Amino acid sequence: MTSSSSNSSPSSHSASSVFELAQNQQYPAATLYVVATPIGNVADISLRALHVLGLVDRICAEDTRNTGTLLARYGISKPLVAVHEHNEREAAQRVIDFLRAGERVACVSDAGTPGISDPGAKLVDAVRDAGFNVVPLPGASALATALSAAGDWVSTFTFLGFLPPKAKQRASALQPLATHAHALVFYEAPHRIVETVQALADAFGPARRLLIARELTKLHEALWRGTLAEGPTWLAADANRQRGEFVLVVEGASAQPDGDADHDALLRTLLQEVPVKSAAKLAAALTGASRNALYARALELKGEDEDRDNAQD
Ligand code: SAM
Repeated sequence: MTSSSSNSSPSSHSASSVFELAQNQQYPAATLYVVATPIGNVADISLRALHVLGLVDRICAEDTRNTGTLLARYGISKPLVAVHEHNEREAAQRVIDFLRAGERVACVSDAGTPGISDPGAKLVDAVRDAGFNVVPLPGASALATALSAAGDWVSTFTFLGFLPPKAKQRASALQPLATHAHALVFYEAPHRIVETVQALADAFGPARRLLIARELTKLHEALWRGTLAEGPTWLAADANRQRGEFVLVVEGASAQPDGDADHDALLRTLLQEVPVKSAAKLAAALTGASRNALYARALELKGEDEDRDNAQD
């Protein structure tokens, strides 16, 4: 069977009619548009995003030079306002003035979705508090891109973003997550990838599944899946594997068998403060284990404690 590019790509006619759908939606004035941009491949931008970036009066950018270069690739030129982590609150006041003057303003970050480990969230708060509309335009995010190819074991997940860079703070941040039942998703930069993967193995043990999603949508894209024990070895085997941008996904703690003694310490602490029923409810919320089983175990523990207290009287 042969195929030609005209068979496999959308025709210019269908692309232009889809573009009309983007144009037909309402884009009110005096509104902030939060626009996702690509995380690597510049083709990963939506037609609506292009339409809105072409329509707005100005664009807030994390780095105006980067965004200027990106916009030039789409043939768009707009006044740019720098809104980054060091000036987000003050810059928000300027943006509010533009909105008061009836402008449409877009907000983009360097890559992906603003507000996800990127500036944007404080701007959104300030704009909404000032009484203006905020409209999101969905698109690429490294988080969703990695999860979309991870598999069923990440069906519930918690996104943590970047861990603290210092070893002690990182270990403290990981420690309470050791019993968390959801898959955990982290962002990491190349210069810390090796120590972070090792820290995950130290905190959660060797057996859990690990996905390393590297350079998503780019030339050297790689999705590697193994265990936390294997992660450092895989990275060490080739220095190129330590380069680029990373999303790490770690399997959540497995549900403990009913009545498992691993929850005893938690139940005992809670039982010092609250009745059995509340202790079971709180422990179930914290661990994801069965509330009934925890209730039964909490009753046993309370009985044991009371017997011991009586014996000491
Ligand atoms: N707002 C962005 C988003 O929606 O994903 C994230 C910005 S955050 C400052 C940058 C981090 O996102 C990188 O250090 C990396 O952990 C992750 N990241 C961004 N692009 C990536 C890519 N192409 N492949 C893998 N991870 C990426």
